[in-house]
Amino acid sequence: MTLPAPAPIVNPENKPFWDGTAQGKLLLPKCQNCGSINWYPKVFCPECGKFGVDWIEAAGTGTVYTFAITRRGAGNYAQAGPYVLAYVELDEGPRIMTNIVDADLEKLAIGDKVTVVFHDTGEGNALPRFKPVS
Ligand SMILES: [Zn+2]
Repeated sequence: MTLPAPAPIVNPENKPFWDGTAQGKLLLPKCQNCGSINWYPKVFCPECGKFGVDWIEAAGTGTVYTFAITRRGAGNYAQAGPYVLAYVELDEGPRIMTNIVDADLEKLAIGDKVTVVFHDTGEGNALPRFKPVS
């Protein structure tokens, strides 16, 4: 079963991030003041409280920090189960909530290496999801 790819809510703060996904790029805001690389994408740094970020392109690789298998979803995901909801810790540091796709659910484990894939929403952007590195 293919996961649905509902379009995100795009606003001026996160638009650079979502525009990047249309080009297959995972962009992260890096604080111009303290250098912190943050998640969720916004122009305000939660670490030092200053405005102003540079958008850097992440490698798109990371590890499974934690995950849950949803056997039966709701709403857009009612027919999508079973699927994996996870936090992936990017190699750049931030942990992002996402889905793990193309995985053997019986073997998926915390600490597994994953790499980003983009699922087109059909509305000018794509959802970053992750698949195991085999
Ligand atoms: Zn900062």
